[in-house]
Amino acid sequence: MKVAVIGGGLAGLTAAAYLSEQPGVQGVLFERSPQLGGRAFTYEKAGFTLNYGAHAIYGLDRHTLTVMENELHLSFSSKQVDKRKVMYEKGEQLTPAPLDFVNLMKTDILTMRQKVRFVAEITAIIANIHQIKHYETLGHYLAESGADEDVKELWEHLVCSNFFITPEDARKVPGAVISAYYHNLFLSQRPVNYILGSWAVITNQLRDKIVYNEHWSFAMQEGVDSIRYEHGKYLLKTKAREEAFDRVVFAMPVQQVIKLLRGTPWEPFLEPYEQNTATEVMVYDIGLHHVVARPFSYISDMNHKLFISDVSATDHTLVPEGGQLLQGIAYLSDEPIDGDEDRKAYLNERTAQMEDLFDRHYPGWREAVAVKRVSKKAMVQSVKNIAGNRLLPSRIESMPFYFCGDGCEGKGELAERAFSSGRRAAQLLLAELKKQQTAVHSVADAGSSPKRP
Ligand SMILES: Cc1cc2nc3c(=O)[nH]c(=O)nc-3n(C[C@H](O)[C@H](O)[C@H](O)COP(=O)(O)OP(=O)(O)OC[C@H]3O[C@@H](n4cnc5c(N)ncnc54)[C@H](O)[C@@H]3O)c2cc1C
Repeated sequence: MKVAVIGGGLAGLTAAAYLSEQPGVQGVLFERSPQLGGRAFTYEKAGFTLNYGAHAIYGLDRHTLTVMENELHLSFSSKQVDKRKVMYEKGEQLTPAPLDFVNLMKTDILTMRQKVRFVAEITAIIANIHQIKHYETLGHYLAESGADEDVKELWEHLVCSNFFITPEDARKVPGAVISAYYHNLFLSQRPVNYILGSWAVITNQLRDKIVYNEHWSFAMQEGVDSIRYEHGKYLLKTKAREEAFDRVVFAMPVQQVIKLLRGTPWEPFLEPYEQNTATEVMVYDIGLHHVVARPFSYISDMNHKLFISDVSATDHTLVPEGGQLLQGIAYLSDEPIDGDEDRKAYLNERTAQMEDLFDRHYPGWREAVAVKRVSKKAMVQSVKNIAGNRLLPSRIESMPFYFCGDGCEGKGELAERAFSSGRRAAQLLLAELKKQQTAVHSVADAGSSPKRP
């Protein structure tokens, strides 16, 4: 069986790595850009390792990456973010984020009575008896919960940091999603970790696994421009070739899948996914010649909905000797902003708020900058997991393709969804192959068995 995987991000590499382990499956992974990794692309600049998207792993011991580590024999090291240095800033107040029991007891965000209530909520989620799973959204639950405003705000903020969405969107996350996500995270012994050396440590191993198989290859800088069906095969066209495949795995943002299949007989099946919205943020990375201050590993400005991670406080491998790498992220509003000038003014305002946060906690950073990368609009997750949006399933009935990526159904959020859906797409395809082979063998067996007289 000959398979095409379209997209060389985390999802496509995962799917191809699993498929390439299977004898009898050959394939090509198409990637339109010059490098693999997609939004998890990593690059070096002046001795700093910069990620396009960050590499924090939530709940590593219960994460799909740990399953892949065993199944695909990956090897990587990780380090836990110092939970005592994860802080929230609200008004003028700075307080530990209530990530675990110790921090929860220390935090000034809640009164003792509120803390007791929050602990009871966490306990109920761990025991899987929390009522939130029956509510349409977090917002619906909070509206009926009778909780104080501070507890509601804390819930919103927690969801906003883990799902990378604005507090307004946090209220729209379905209750069942919150329940499953936090059941997993609260049970984890390793709530927030970084993969030491960034995503490249993972993507390079997946790549090596794929190229190790002589029946697999990469088609770099070969964006797939069109697909058609002819004589039982799918013909993929790029600028360099047209090639026939038996199966196709789409491993790219849902918006791009829809674009690619526009005008084909499969377009109508994707209609329910056309209105999906993505999470977009502004990213402000700075590499500093020296450590200017190290008060936190993560500081979230609750007033302006932005945060800074001191990435190198956890992952020292990303900086030259003595250097510091800070990543600032500002959530961007979904509200349409009319006109280029207004949009520019909005982004400038967000940039100024971000720089203020750096000034407040990392004085002297401006003079110490060695590397700076500002991306005014980065797509964190291609489909926000909120009510009104629909994640793309790995298979759609009546459609002959497989889908994976962080906009698809799968376990977890963000990169975990890319990994888990990539693994799932490969498993489904291999199960189909096995079914076919069994059918062929039974026909062959039936053909070769002696005929009854
Ligand atoms: C600023 C930022 C911070 C983040 N922080 C975290 C974090 O801390 N933790 C976490 O878990 N996740 C984080 N993420 C999210 C994570 O990076 C993404 O969820 C993940 O990388 C998505 O992988 P993917 O394979 O689904 O999609 P992509 O990475 O988008 O891969 C799709 C690939 O398909 C290619 N492609 C598209 N169309 C075609 C075509 N027609 N032909 C050929 N190739 C095509 C693209 O070039 C791309 O390489 C962050 C993301 C950002 C942007």
